[in-house]
Amino acid sequence: STYLETIKSKNPEINAIVHFDEDSVLKQASDIQKKIDSGKSGNLVGAVVGVKDVISEKGKKLTCSSKMLNNFESVYDATVIEKLKREDALLIGRCNMDEFAMGSSNENSYHGPAKNPHDTSKVPGGSSGGSAAAVAAGMCNVSLGSDTGGSIRQPASYCGVVGLKPTYSRVSRHGLVAFASSFDCIGPFSNSVEDAALMLQNIAGKDPMDNSSADVKVENYLDAVQNDSGKLKIGVPKEYFGDGLDDEIRTMIEDRLKGLESEGAELVPINLPHTKYGIATYYILATAEASSNLARYDGVRYGHRADFKTIEEELGKEKEAIEKEIKIAVGADKEEALERLTKLDSPLSRLYKKSRTEGFGSEVKRRIMLGTYVLSAGYYDAYYAKAQKVRRLIKQDFETAFEKVDVIVSPTAPTTAFDLGSNQDDPVQMYLNDIYTTTANLAGICGISVPAGVHSNGLPVGVQFLGNSFRESEILRAGRRIE
Ligand code: GLN
Repeated sequence: STYLETIKSKNPEINAIVHFDEDSVLKQASDIQKKIDSGKSGNLVGAVVGVKDVISEKGKKLTCSSKMLNNFESVYDATVIEKLKREDALLIGRCNMDEFAMGSSNENSYHGPAKNPHDTSKVPGGSSGGSAAAVAAGMCNVSLGSDTGGSIRQPASYCGVVGLKPTYSRVSRHGLVAFASSFDCIGPFSNSVEDAALMLQNIAGKDPMDNSSADVKVENYLDAVQNDSGKLKIGVPKEYFGDGLDDEIRTMIEDRLKGLESEGAELVPINLPHTKYGIATYYILATAEASSNLARYDGVRYGHRADFKTIEEELGKEKEAIEKEIKIAVGADKEEALERLTKLDSPLSRLYKKSRTEGFGSEVKRRIMLGTYVLSAGYYDAYYAKAQKVRRLIKQDFETAFEKVDVIVSPTAPTTAFDLGSNQDDPVQMYLNDIYTTTANLAGICGISVPAGVHSNGLPVGVQFLGNSFRESEILRAGRRIE
């Protein structure tokens, strides 16, 4: 109930939650209370969860912050949602995000931008900006986001909360709207590493509904965090502390590392030589996968549909105009006009084009164009195939490093949260924000962002720990030592 009050008082400005149904929340709360009274309640009693608007909750809106899906409602629960419900978590509302999870600032949203609770002139980060801001503002105590190239870790860092991206395939993607299927991961935001461990423990595992989900035993992560007595070898990659990193963030993380060292952790300098290709490789492969995944929004099967009557009228007028031309044209002009007449859209293909033109925002269109380009016959080898090879090299960098260390440390982002609007006209600048996060998705490994301190500008700074596949315990352990 304090959460409900916080939503009512703070959400109008923060805009972290885009859909919220008080009656359904109260009904859930009373059902959970009944289970508590009967002594049969689940592991997640007390968890008040915001859900990124890209994960299906039966009977709830699922907009992905897109006009394309603005009227769409889920007809089933994602596997993670089923699991949360089974363990008696309270699902409080749908969280704002960048459209189809494409962005680093939550500004690409049909619902308007979410704002950073620490300073509302700043972005909360993205794409899971609403999920991070909701926890930071106290509208819920945990939330779910998705991380394709950093979308959990970067907003966690900007909002001063914990954000965990599990290993690829650790958590079922059934019911997660696809952006880039070989990268997408669902994971939690929380106020503490322990809460992230508990959430992960409850959402992870093999799922018959997602063939790509891994059949690897789910550890007791909470236990691993609470009973950490072991040694910790932390790899420090020089490539992640170079140019472009804010000096104060560098110093802050170095200080925290010295602290860990004095408490017994071992710091090991390592190299991840292919890091510099991370962003380019990510944006080639992720846009390629996105262009294919987003082909399904055609306005016919579902999604925003342009007005068919208007289309028929338009086509009628265009046809008439060309026919007029044909009557008076001669020679090559006539041929050209006749050709145009045969190429005129059919009503259905015009419906498809127009629905997509109206339904998608500009960043999504940019990604579809980029992705279609890198997959096109003439450029496939130069871009897509090449990027796949580099992805392999980046993965090998990590494999080599993890032979020597338990976790790898880096800043989560090169700066603190930036001003709303400041990067919006410059997509490349926006993409550069993902410099420390995309490599984990390319390699499929796990990563966590934990608050490391407050910058002199008053904004939170996050530190990232990366761990080998299925070694979430290690990064949780490392994160706990920073808290
Ligand atoms: N900022 C990255 C992008 O725009 C990452 C997005 C994500 O992880 N969903 O693609």
